[in-house]
Amino acid sequence: MTDDLQVERERLLDEHFREQWSYAEEIPACDEGLILLQVFAEAHPAAYQLALQKGFVDLTHPGFGRMAKWLAYSQHWSTCEMCNEV
Ligand SMILES: [Zn+2]
Repeated sequence: MTDDLQVERERLLDEHFREQWSYAEEIPACDEGLILLQVFAEAHPAAYQLALQKGFVDLTHPGFGRMAKWLAYSQHWSTCEMCNEV
């Protein structure tokens, strides 16, 4: 049986964006988190590259705190059990 919400998430999550994680040992977030990350990447490509280099940790650069889309991702990540299960 198909979970409608899961289908919706897969539709929203860009395949190419998701593919980059298929080679990673550790995916940084659950599907919902990845969508938020994708939205952040589209809005702030340069900042996303910086975050990527840092492995999405230790993002103490003050610029990140002013980006609503980054805050949406980090807030999700810090409160999501699926993102923190690994
Ligand atoms: Zn999550």
